[in-house]
Amino acid sequence: MRFHIHTYGCQMNVRDSEAVEALLVAAGHVKAADEADAELIIINSCTVRQKAEEKAVGKAGNMIAAGKITGLMGCAVKRMGADVFKRLPKLDFAVGPRRFGLIPHLLNRIAAGEKGILEVGDDEVPTGMDAHPDVQRGGTSGMFQSYVTVLLGCDNRCSYCIVPEVRGHEYSRPAKEVIAEVKCLAARGVKEVCLLGQSVLRYGIRNKAWEPGEPNASGLTEAFPRLLWELNQIPGIERIRFTSAHPKGCTDELVRVYRECPKVCRHLHLPVQSGSDRVLAEMGRHYTRAEYLAAVKKLRDFDPEFAVTTDVIVGYPGETEADFEETRTLMEEAGFDNSFVFKYSPRPGTRSAALTDDVTTAEKERRDQVLLADQESRGQRRNEALVGTVREVLVEGPSKRNPKRWSGRDSGNRIIVWDVGENGEWVKETGDLAIGDFVSLKITEAHPQILIGVPV
Ligand code: SAH
Ligand code: SF4
Repeated sequence: MRFHIHTYGCQMNVRDSEAVEALLVAAGHVKAADEADAELIIINSCTVRQKAEEKAVGKAGNMIAAGKITGLMGCAVKRMGADVFKRLPKLDFAVGPRRFGLIPHLLNRIAAGEKGILEVGDDEVPTGMDAHPDVQRGGTSGMFQSYVTVLLGCDNRCSYCIVPEVRGHEYSRPAKEVIAEVKCLAARGVKEVCLLGQSVLRYGIRNKAWEPGEPNASGLTEAFPRLLWELNQIPGIERIRFTSAHPKGCTDELVRVYRECPKVCRHLHLPVQSGSDRVLAEMGRHYTRAEYLAAVKKLRDFDPEFAVTTDVIVGYPGETEADFEETRTLMEEAGFDNSFVFKYSPRPGTRSAALTDDVTTAEKERRDQVLLADQESRGQRRNEALVGTVREVLVEGPSKRNPKRWSGRDSGNRIIVWDVGENGEWVKETGDLAIGDFVSLKITEAHPQILIGVPV
C-alpha cells in the first residue's frame, strides 16, 4: 500500500513514526508522494495538552471522510483506549505507543477484512524500536542526523503530566543495543545523533542498561554518562545530543563527560516548569529553585557559552502573580538561551486535574506573552555576546525563510544562517559545501532566535 504518516507532538513521536515507516517499507509497502497520493494514512498523536489531542483526532476524522484507510497511533490512543472508536467509529486501527511494531501485521488483518482494531498493551520491551528508514529518507531528521530512543516511558509522575500514563513505565534499552544502533547509523553516514527519553538522565535506573562484566574504559559508574562516553568513541559520529533532562541528573559524572567528550554537545534542554518553590513542590518536580539554578551554574562554570533551554508552564492551578514573578526572575537568573512556554491544560487522570483550573485563559495568555517578550530580549542579549566568535556549524541546508541563505547549528543548538552568494553557489572558499558538512562561521549579527555569520 502507498502510505503517508502524519506526526504530531514531540521528538519521540517523530522517531516512532520513522520506525513505523521503516517497518512498513520492510513489509513491502511504499511511501506515498504526499497525503493525497496515499491509500493508507497513519496519524501519530499527542495528548500532552488537550489541543494536541483534538488536532490528531480531527485530522483522523478528515482522512476517514476522504476515504482513506486510517490508523491512529501514539499517546492519544493510549489515553482514550476503546473510547477512540466512539469518537472515530470508522477508524481502521488504533495503536498505543508501545505497540507500533505491530502495525505491519495489523495491515494484513485489515486486508483480510477486519476493522476497528485496538492495540494498547503496556509491553515492557516493544518491538521495532531500532528500525531506521534508509539514509536517503531525507525525513524530518535528515540523512546525517538521527534520533535514537534510549529511554521509554517516565516514572516521575509530575502532577500535571499525562505522559507516564500513556507512555508507561521507564524502560532503558540495553546499552549494547544502543551502541550497535549508533554504529549502524554511523556506517550509513549519520554524523549527529540525538538520544531521546522523557527524563533521559534516568537511563539505567529502573532497569539495568549495562550488563555486569561489560568493559568500562571510562570508569564511570552512572549508566547515562557511561553511555555518552562510549558513543563518543564511535568513528563517524561527530555530535551527540540528548533530551530531555532533569536537574537531578546533572551530576559530576555528567560534567566529567562534557569535559572529556568533545562530541557531546554543549546544550541541555532542562525543563524548569516554574520558578516558585511552592508550585514546584505541588508539581512534584523534586527540586527547588535553588537546586535548579545550581545545576545551571554547574554547566556554565564548565563552559560560559553552554546553552540551556527550558520548558515553562504558566497558569498552573493556584499560580499567583507572585509565583509567576518568581518564574520570571528564575528565567532571568538562569539566562536561558531559549524557552518554550505552555499554558496549563488539565489532563484527565493526572493529580492536578482534581484542582480547580483557576487561572483564566486571558491571564494564562498574558503570562505567556510576558515570558515570550522576556525571552526575546534575553535571547538578543545572549546572542549579542557571541558576535565576533567563530562557531563550528553543521550544515542543514537552505533556510526556510530565505533560500539565498543556508542554515545550520552550532554545538549549543543555536541556529546560524549565512549568505550563499549571488547565484546560490555557496562555497567554502575551497569548494562546495554540502548538507551534513561542517563549516566555521564568524558571527556578525545577533537576533533573539538566530545568529548570522560569514564563512571563515
Ligand atoms: N519529559 C519532558 C516533558 C515532556 S512534555 C520533561 O519532563 O522534560 C513537554 C512539556 O509539556 C513539559 O515540559 C511541560 O512544560 C509541558 N506540559 C506537560 N503537561 C502539561 C499540561 N498538562 N499543561 C501544559 N503543559 C504541559
Ligand atoms: Fe511528564 Fe514529568 Fe515525566 Fe516529563 S518528567 S514526562 S513532565 S511526568
